[in-house]
Amino acid sequence: MKTIGMIGGMSWESSLEYYRLVNEAVKERMGGLHSAKCVLYSVDFGEIEKMLVIGDWEGLEACLGEAALELKEAGADFLMICTNTMHKLAEKVEAKAGLPLLHIADAAAGEIQAAGLEKVGLLGTKFTMEEAFYRERLEEKFGIKVLIPEAGDREFVNSVIFNELCLGVIKEDSRKKFRGIIGDLVSKGAEGIVLGCTEIPLLIGQEDAEVPVFDTTKIHALAAVEFALE
Ligand code: GLU
Repeated sequence: MKTIGMIGGMSWESSLEYYRLVNEAVKERMGGLHSAKCVLYSVDFGEIEKMLVIGDWEGLEACLGEAALELKEAGADFLMICTNTMHKLAEKVEAKAGLPLLHIADAAAGEIQAAGLEKVGLLGTKFTMEEAFYRERLEEKFGIKVLIPEAGDREFVNSVIFNELCLGVIKEDSRKKFRGIIGDLVSKGAEGIVLGCTEIPLLIGQEDAEVPVFDTTKIHALAAVEFALE
Protein backbone atom coordinates (compact mmCIF):
# COMPACT_ATOMS: atom_id res chain seq x y z
CA MET A 1 0.00 0.00 0.00
CA LYS A 2 1.29 3.47 -0.88
CA THR A 3 1.40 6.16 1.82
CA ILE A 4 -1.02 9.04 1.20
CA GLY A 5 0.32 12.54 1.90
CA MET A 6 -2.54 14.84 2.87
CA ILE A 7 -2.25 18.61 2.93
CA GLY A 8 -5.16 19.38 5.22
CA GLY A 9 -6.57 21.70 7.81
CA MET A 10 -8.45 23.71 5.18
CA SER A 11 -10.52 23.36 7.13
CA TRP A 12 -9.96 20.66 9.73
CA GLU A 13 -13.73 20.05 9.64
CA SER A 14 -13.29 18.49 6.20
CA SER A 15 -9.90 16.90 6.98
CA LEU A 16 -11.68 14.84 9.65
CA GLU A 17 -13.95 13.54 6.90
CA TYR A 18 -10.98 12.73 4.66
CA TYR A 19 -9.31 10.78 7.47
CA ARG A 20 -12.49 8.81 8.18
CA LEU A 21 -13.20 8.15 4.49
CA VAL A 22 -9.74 6.86 3.55
CA ASN A 23 -9.66 4.56 6.56
CA GLU A 24 -13.19 3.25 5.96
CA ALA A 25 -12.38 2.60 2.31
CA VAL A 26 -9.17 0.67 3.08
CA LYS A 27 -11.02 -1.38 5.69
CA GLU A 28 -13.73 -2.16 3.17
CA ARG A 29 -11.23 -3.13 0.48
CA MET A 30 -8.79 -5.11 2.65
CA GLY A 31 -10.91 -6.18 5.60
CA GLY A 32 -9.98 -6.88 9.21
CA LEU A 33 -7.87 -4.29 10.97
CA HIS A 34 -6.42 -2.79 7.81
CA SER A 35 -6.33 1.01 7.66
CA ALA A 36 -4.88 3.69 5.40
CA LYS A 37 -1.17 4.52 5.51
CA CYS A 38 -1.18 8.29 5.55
CA VAL A 39 0.57 11.38 6.79
CA LEU A 40 -1.37 14.58 7.36
CA TYR A 41 0.14 18.05 7.36
CA SER A 42 -2.55 20.21 8.92
CA VAL A 43 -2.08 23.96 8.46
CA ASP A 44 -3.45 26.81 10.58
CA PHE A 45 -6.47 27.79 8.51
CA GLY A 46 -6.60 31.22 10.17
CA GLU A 47 -3.25 32.06 8.54
CA ILE A 48 -4.37 30.60 5.20
CA GLU A 49 -7.65 32.53 5.15
CA LYS A 50 -5.83 35.82 5.81
CA MET A 51 -3.61 35.22 2.78
CA LEU A 52 -6.63 34.25 0.67
CA VAL A 53 -8.49 37.45 1.55
CA ILE A 54 -5.60 39.67 0.49
CA GLY A 55 -4.80 37.49 -2.54
CA ASP A 56 -1.33 36.55 -1.31
CA TRP A 57 -0.98 33.51 -3.59
CA GLU A 58 2.82 33.63 -3.30
CA GLY A 59 2.52 33.22 0.46
CA LEU A 60 0.03 30.41 -0.01
CA GLU A 61 2.32 28.71 -2.51
CA ALA A 62 5.24 28.90 -0.07
CA CYS A 63 3.10 27.47 2.73
CA LEU A 64 1.65 24.57 0.74
CA GLY A 65 5.00 23.88 -0.94
CA GLU A 66 6.61 23.57 2.48
CA ALA A 67 3.82 21.23 3.62
CA ALA A 68 4.36 19.08 0.53
CA LEU A 69 8.10 18.81 1.18
CA GLU A 70 7.46 17.86 4.81
CA LEU A 71 5.08 15.15 3.68
CA LYS A 72 7.64 13.79 1.24
CA GLU A 73 10.22 13.76 4.03
CA ALA A 74 7.72 11.90 6.24
CA GLY A 75 7.36 9.13 3.65
CA ALA A 76 4.39 10.13 1.49
CA ASP A 77 4.34 8.40 -1.91
CA PHE A 78 1.85 10.83 -3.41
CA LEU A 79 0.01 14.00 -2.42
CA MET A 80 -3.51 15.24 -2.13
CA ILE A 81 -4.59 18.78 -1.30
CA CYS A 82 -7.70 18.38 0.86
CA THR A 83 -9.52 21.44 -0.49
CA ASN A 84 -10.79 22.42 -3.91
CA THR A 85 -9.76 26.08 -3.65
CA MET A 86 -6.07 25.41 -3.10
CA HIS A 87 -5.94 23.41 -6.32
CA LYS A 88 -5.21 26.75 -7.92
CA LEU A 89 -1.67 25.89 -6.77
CA ALA A 90 -1.77 22.17 -7.62
CA GLU A 91 0.83 22.18 -10.39
CA LYS A 92 3.24 24.32 -8.35
CA VAL A 93 2.91 22.15 -5.25
CA GLU A 94 3.38 19.00 -7.32
CA ALA A 95 6.49 20.40 -8.98
CA LYS A 96 7.98 21.58 -5.70
CA ALA A 97 7.63 18.18 -4.02
CA GLY A 98 8.40 16.07 -7.07
CA LEU A 99 5.64 13.66 -6.04
CA PRO A 100 2.47 12.79 -7.99
CA LEU A 101 -0.54 14.84 -6.91
CA LEU A 102 -4.05 13.45 -7.15
CA HIS A 103 -6.10 16.37 -8.49
CA ILE A 104 -9.56 16.76 -6.96
CA ALA A 105 -11.15 18.08 -10.17
CA ASP A 106 -9.83 15.11 -12.17
CA ALA A 107 -11.33 12.71 -9.64
CA ALA A 108 -14.66 14.58 -9.81
CA ALA A 109 -14.57 14.65 -13.62
CA GLY A 110 -14.11 10.88 -13.71
CA GLU A 111 -17.30 10.41 -11.71
CA ILE A 112 -19.25 12.97 -13.76
CA GLN A 113 -18.23 11.20 -16.97
CA ALA A 114 -19.03 7.79 -15.51
CA ALA A 115 -22.54 9.12 -14.81
CA GLY A 116 -22.78 10.20 -18.45
CA LEU A 117 -23.32 13.90 -17.67
CA GLU A 118 -22.12 16.79 -19.83
CA LYS A 119 -23.25 19.89 -17.94
CA VAL A 120 -22.94 20.44 -14.18
CA GLY A 121 -23.53 23.21 -11.67
CA LEU A 122 -20.55 24.10 -9.48
CA LEU A 123 -20.78 25.20 -5.85
CA GLY A 124 -17.64 26.20 -3.97
CA THR A 125 -15.74 29.18 -2.68
CA LYS A 126 -15.85 32.26 -4.88
CA PHE A 127 -12.30 31.42 -5.99
CA THR A 128 -13.36 27.98 -7.19
CA MET A 129 -16.56 29.21 -8.82
CA GLU A 130 -15.24 32.40 -10.41
CA GLU A 131 -11.63 31.78 -11.33
CA ALA A 132 -10.52 29.70 -14.29
CA PHE A 133 -8.36 27.03 -12.65
CA TYR A 134 -11.18 24.66 -11.70
CA ARG A 135 -13.87 25.33 -14.31
CA GLU A 136 -11.41 25.32 -17.19
CA ARG A 137 -9.94 22.04 -16.08
CA LEU A 138 -13.40 20.45 -16.19
CA GLU A 139 -14.25 22.15 -19.47
CA GLU A 140 -10.99 21.85 -21.39
CA LYS A 141 -9.56 18.58 -20.11
CA PHE A 142 -12.83 16.66 -19.82
CA GLY A 143 -15.36 18.52 -22.00
CA ILE A 144 -17.74 19.06 -19.08
CA LYS A 145 -19.71 22.32 -19.25
CA VAL A 146 -19.89 24.21 -15.96
CA LEU A 147 -22.63 26.55 -14.71
CA ILE A 148 -22.14 28.72 -11.63
CA PRO A 149 -24.72 30.53 -9.47
CA GLU A 150 -25.63 34.22 -9.90
CA ALA A 151 -23.29 36.77 -8.23
CA GLY A 152 -25.43 37.24 -5.10
CA ASP A 153 -25.75 33.49 -4.64
CA ARG A 154 -22.00 33.05 -5.09
CA GLU A 155 -21.42 35.55 -2.26
CA PHE A 156 -23.88 33.65 -0.09
CA VAL A 157 -22.32 30.23 -0.77
CA ASN A 158 -18.83 31.62 -0.10
CA SER A 159 -19.92 33.23 3.14
CA VAL A 160 -21.60 30.05 4.41
CA ILE A 161 -18.37 28.13 3.72
CA PHE A 162 -16.11 30.50 5.66
CA ASN A 163 -18.49 31.76 8.35
CA GLU A 164 -20.39 28.56 9.09
CA LEU A 165 -19.13 25.26 7.66
CA CYS A 166 -15.40 25.80 8.29
CA LEU A 167 -16.36 26.66 11.88
CA GLY A 168 -18.46 23.53 12.29
CA VAL A 169 -21.75 25.46 12.19
CA ILE A 170 -24.60 23.78 10.30
CA LYS A 171 -27.75 25.90 9.80
CA GLU A 172 -31.07 24.69 8.44
CA ASP A 173 -31.71 28.14 6.90
CA SER A 174 -28.51 27.90 4.89
CA ARG A 175 -29.41 24.40 3.75
CA LYS A 176 -32.75 25.72 2.47
CA LYS A 177 -31.07 28.54 0.59
CA PHE A 178 -28.54 26.12 -0.92
CA ARG A 179 -31.43 23.94 -2.09
CA GLY A 180 -32.88 26.98 -3.88
CA ILE A 181 -29.53 27.76 -5.52
CA ILE A 182 -29.20 24.14 -6.65
CA GLY A 183 -32.77 24.26 -8.04
CA ASP A 184 -31.89 27.39 -9.98
CA LEU A 185 -28.81 25.73 -11.54
CA VAL A 186 -30.90 22.68 -12.47
CA SER A 187 -33.53 24.89 -14.10
CA LYS A 188 -30.72 26.42 -16.19
CA GLY A 189 -29.67 22.99 -17.45
CA ALA A 190 -27.33 21.50 -14.83
CA GLU A 191 -27.61 17.71 -15.02
CA GLY A 192 -25.61 17.29 -11.82
CA ILE A 193 -24.22 19.43 -8.99
CA VAL A 194 -20.56 19.42 -7.99
CA LEU A 195 -20.11 20.07 -4.28
CA GLY A 196 -16.80 21.70 -5.11
CA CYS A 197 -15.85 22.63 -1.59
CA THR A 198 -14.84 19.96 0.86
CA GLU A 199 -17.11 21.31 3.62
CA ILE A 200 -20.33 21.57 1.55
CA PRO A 201 -21.06 17.83 2.00
CA LEU A 202 -21.40 18.59 5.73
CA LEU A 203 -24.52 20.62 4.77
CA ILE A 204 -25.79 19.18 1.50
CA GLY A 205 -26.37 15.62 0.36
CA GLN A 206 -28.10 13.74 -2.43
CA GLU A 207 -31.45 14.29 -0.69
CA ASP A 208 -31.14 18.04 -1.31
CA ALA A 209 -31.13 17.83 -5.11
CA GLU A 210 -33.18 16.23 -7.81
CA VAL A 211 -30.09 15.55 -9.94
CA PRO A 212 -26.94 13.60 -8.98
CA VAL A 213 -24.62 15.43 -6.57
CA PHE A 214 -20.87 14.92 -6.65
CA ASP A 215 -19.30 15.05 -3.19
CA THR A 216 -15.70 16.03 -3.96
CA THR A 217 -14.45 15.12 -0.46
CA LYS A 218 -15.66 11.55 -0.80
CA ILE A 219 -14.69 11.21 -4.46
CA HIS A 220 -11.18 12.53 -3.77
CA ALA A 221 -10.69 10.33 -0.69
CA LEU A 222 -11.84 7.19 -2.53
CA ALA A 223 -9.64 8.00 -5.53
CA ALA A 224 -6.68 8.25 -3.15
CA VAL A 225 -7.41 4.82 -1.74
CA GLU A 226 -7.70 3.35 -5.25
CA PHE A 227 -4.33 4.84 -6.13
CA ALA A 228 -2.75 3.75 -2.86
CA LEU A 229 -3.84 0.17 -3.40
CA GLU A 230 -3.00 -0.02 -7.13
N1 GLU B 1 -12.36 23.48 1.87
C1 GLU B 1 -12.80 24.45 0.95
C2 GLU B 1 -12.63 24.00 -0.48
O1 GLU B 1 -12.73 22.82 -0.74
C3 GLU B 1 -12.53 25.88 1.22
C4 GLU B 1 -11.43 26.24 2.14
C5 GLU B 1 -10.25 26.76 1.39
O2 GLU B 1 -10.26 27.94 1.06
O3 GLU B 1 -9.33 26.01 1.14
O4 GLU B 1 -12.44 24.78 -1.38
